[in-house]
Amino acid sequence: MRSIFAPVKRILPVALTVLLLAASALLAAGQTAPAKPAQPEAPPLVVEAIAGGLHLVKGGSGANTAFYVTEKAAFAVDAKMSVESASAMLAEIAKRTSAPLTTVIITHSDGDHINGLPGFPKGLTIVAHDNCKADIEKAAADLPAIKDYIPNKTFDQALLPLFKGTDGRIDLLYFGPAHTSGDLVVWFPAEKAVFVGDLLFVGRDPLIHRHKNGSSFGYVKTLKGLLDLAPRVEVFLSGHADPLGRADVEALIASMEDKQAKVKAMIAEGRSLEDVKKAFGIEDRPAAAGGRRWLSLVETIYLELTGK
Ligand SMILES: [Zn+2]
Repeated sequence: MRSIFAPVKRILPVALTVLLLAASALLAAGQTAPAKPAQPEAPPLVVEAIAGGLHLVKGGSGANTAFYVTEKAAFAVDAKMSVESASAMLAEIAKRTSAPLTTVIITHSDGDHINGLPGFPKGLTIVAHDNCKADIEKAAADLPAIKDYIPNKTFDQALLPLFKGTDGRIDLLYFGPAHTSGDLVVWFPAEKAVFVGDLLFVGRDPLIHRHKNGSSFGYVKTLKGLLDLAPRVEVFLSGHADPLGRADVEALIASMEDKQAKVKAMIAEGRSLEDVKKAFGIEDRPAAAGGRRWLSLVETIYLELTGK
């Protein structure tokens, strides 16, 4: 049996050397600490087997992704945010199947879901909703590497099925504008699971991209549509959470509907946007790179209800 202390024995001398070197560097620099901490590296990928051929991929740079392996073909869902993380994801898929990766399904056009596309081989089928394709074409102006990865298979309402084999099936659904105007839902009926991209958040309000024609009311409609699917869905995979269940989706619907009702009541009382934000304790987050300010859910609801 290998001693559990072996790795520690190996690490200790290295750690001591690093400490000594750091200490002497500090002395040489007149006791000042290094000015810039090193850029944190993306955490390693962690693959979680969900059911059948369905796997969730956490870690790396960007949002969670997924992949689905069948006897004939493998399918990726979203592309991570960097070429390195996309390559690491491809390596994880290759460990689990000898079937070729034929298809990348893109849930929506945000960078943390698509910027890793250039890490995938060229010539794959890239599937997206029509509106997502239009957003990716716009994004390609700033990120030319994406130009070779513009979705080449798009749809407006649903793709039933995208794939059907003896050992699995993938359906693609669209419920209308929600996080953006082009969010698709990947449905794995045999596994009673969906992958929803950014259509589910826990512990924080969902983000609605008004500049991509998202809608908070559409978001709630989409969540209700997911709960109504038959056969019943039990596992909800998201770009930014561990696997969730029906109770998590129900709780998010309740929380969003509660905020929508409260904002509506305040508008009926003639209260201003500033009043509404104050009542919910909303402080504006600083503008993102490029000058776009992230709107809170409450502000988004106010703007939707007042038609602004
Ligand atoms: Zn997103």
